[in-house]
Amino acid sequence: MSADSATVIRGGRIICPGSGLDLQTDILVRDGAIAAVGTNRATEPLHVIDATGKVVCPGLIDVHVHLREPGAEQKETIRTGTRAAVRGGFTTVCAMPNTSPAPDIPENVAAIRERVRRDAWCRVGLIGAATVGNDRFHLSDFRALRDAGCVAISDDAFMLTTREQRREALLRCAELGLIFLAHAEAEELSAGGVMHRGAVAERLGLPGQHPETEVRSLAEWREAWDGPGRPPLHIAHLSTAAGVELLRDWSDGPTAETAPHYLALTDEAVATHGANAKMNPPLRTEQDRQALIDALCDGTIAVIATDHAPHTVQEKAAGMLAAPFGIVGLETALSVVLAELVESGRMKLSQALATMTAAPAALLGLPQGLIEAGAPADLLIFEPDSRWSVDAEEFVSLGRNTPFAGRELPGFVSTVLLAGRVVLDRGRLADTQPPAHLN
Ligand SMILES: [Zn+2]
Repeated sequence: MSADSATVIRGGRIICPGSGLDLQTDILVRDGAIAAVGTNRATEPLHVIDATGKVVCPGLIDVHVHLREPGAEQKETIRTGTRAAVRGGFTTVCAMPNTSPAPDIPENVAAIRERVRRDAWCRVGLIGAATVGNDRFHLSDFRALRDAGCVAISDDAFMLTTREQRREALLRCAELGLIFLAHAEAEELSAGGVMHRGAVAERLGLPGQHPETEVRSLAEWREAWDGPGRPPLHIAHLSTAAGVELLRDWSDGPTAETAPHYLALTDEAVATHGANAKMNPPLRTEQDRQALIDALCDGTIAVIATDHAPHTVQEKAAGMLAAPFGIVGLETALSVVLAELVESGRMKLSQALATMTAAPAALLGLPQGLIEAGAPADLLIFEPDSRWSVDAEEFVSLGRNTPFAGRELPGFVSTVLLAGRVVLDRGRLADTQPPAHLN
């Protein structure tokens, strides 16, 4: 315990949604962990971080990120994606399995983990692929994936196709203590659609996805679970009022996440931002947007995840019909949430932060997401009232595909500590990468 490794974060407003803590005090960090929370009078030589006027909370946790590596390093790499995460205030991200090769067998999981150890700037949880080679038909060996270190299983981007598969996937997850992250989309209703089907799609002359594609898929998932208790199921990127209604009616139902863009934008954004507002599920109507915010307020949706999905400028330049689905989100998520949920008066700050800290940690059983003695010192310090203007050219991510370009948003991410080490200092990434042993 050398004094050299001790840091005190002084005078900030400490918010820990998981424990209910919200007060102005100090945090003492030593040897990578939180040593004490409370007024610090230590006289030993300490590294001091002045957090006066700032919020100090657990580092953000994102359960839904596409890091693209291996296989699509022109869009993003583990290094650039996790640096973007840190810049956005995240200390843990979970990588979706639609890579090539996919994390569908232990050997591939091990190879990706090796890359993560070499290149990651934050903690990375790997989500195992639900099907072999993401072929959508042959379920992978969930037990082997869990034993290889996967934190969950998902069919994101490569949805399961039958009731039997869904049932089998949930049974296996229940047996293994895993959570299945489901992409809820009924393809027979969405195929060929590039945005939400409605007045805006009609005006723009673009093929739309039927509004009920999500709720139909949710009904299929409900049908697939006849086991006792809660299904080991989490609904990814919930986007519709009908989906919210179904989850409210489903007693002992799954958990769910939504993404910042569904809280801030409607399908009208496609008219302005084109393919940079194209993602799947698509942006919906104002009624859907309000229903999602209500669902976060009443706890029907507990988690906010970015679905960070970088693509190259060339790919997105292909226009609404040909461009791939997805937008980046790591570097704007906190600010969009602050704007739409807190500044708007819909949620208290600690309640909004819970959706990005305690709730995702609880979902996957992660040891992060808490400020208490003994917890890993993964911490975010931000200025809630500072405003900044989104300039995609300044992103650390390789992706520039954001519908928030030019928007002025609240919340400046000032400092991020990962296991007690400063990895972002007053908005700037550190010179050296954090140590590999964290992953
Ligand atoms: Zn996704």
